[in-house]
Amino acid sequence: MHNLDRILNQIRDRIHEEADWGLPAQYIPELANVAPEQFAISVVTSNGQCCSAGQADRPFSIQSISKVFSLVATLGRIGEALWTRVGREPTRAAFDSIMLLETDNGRPPNPFVNAGAIVTTDALLAGREPRQALAEILGLIRTMAGRDDIYINKRVAQSEKRTAERNKALAHYLASHGNLLNDPDLTLGTYFHQCAIEMTTVQLAMSGRVLAGLDCAPPTISRTHARRTNALMMTCGHYDASGEFAFKVGLPGKSGVGGGILLIAPRRASIAIWSPGLNGYGNSQAGTRAATMLAELTGWSVF
Ligand code: GLU
Repeated sequence: MHNLDRILNQIRDRIHEEADWGLPAQYIPELANVAPEQFAISVVTSNGQCCSAGQADRPFSIQSISKVFSLVATLGRIGEALWTRVGREPTRAAFDSIMLLETDNGRPPNPFVNAGAIVTTDALLAGREPRQALAEILGLIRTMAGRDDIYINKRVAQSEKRTAERNKALAHYLASHGNLLNDPDLTLGTYFHQCAIEMTTVQLAMSGRVLAGLDCAPPTISRTHARRTNALMMTCGHYDASGEFAFKVGLPGKSGVGGGILLIAPRRASIAIWSPGLNGYGNSQAGTRAATMLAELTGWSVF
């Protein structure tokens, strides 16, 4: 058996032994029902090999990992203009915090906290119908993954929409500062649908190849945008636990409340991990542990 297969099987076995699963996202009813005792990991390496362990063919809700793709799409569309509306600084506040919007006149600190992602999606939506913006994000993901069978789970989008008081508050607060170009409900509807995209760890790992520099990028993704997206994943990808994640794992990563993590080892590998139970920061509990083990066992690090 290949060395990488051995490492991934070892991680999967350890995760099941430890059985420290956390709790699935409770505020989105469709996600609250997912059984927490599940785990998958997939790694695509520079020679094109894809190794997996666990439930690597089970689609899960990518949630905030979609913010990576909407950022790449928006940078491709409007370039540097995005930064007048969103900052690039990590925060010590929760992913759905409204506090930081007050201190900077409605300019979110970075594109990965919810407020920043809502502004990014709003920029992508400007002048178009939600279905066009969603087709662009989904099309980009399919191109990056090299797979066509990636879809939006409308039930999850509807479920989030029904219980979205916090995100509605953020969107309306942004609008009050003139930092939304579209009707807040239209932008939010687009955002909920982008978060409800489902992927397997195999598909997600495949989609990260461009960011890891393992695959030729589609013409809309420049090397500069890929590098900058990695920088933001490193500094802001795990919300107020980003420092701890960088300390323990040492690789750019983006988490989602569906329990997924996209991890980039530049020029070496693209990695996807899934386990639906979360820690107190809204990041996958077992997934974070698995990322730590992978970094230790492979020695992969950007430092
Ligand atoms: N759709 C989720 C929300 O807006 C995404 C959060 C996350 O995955 O961290 O609350």
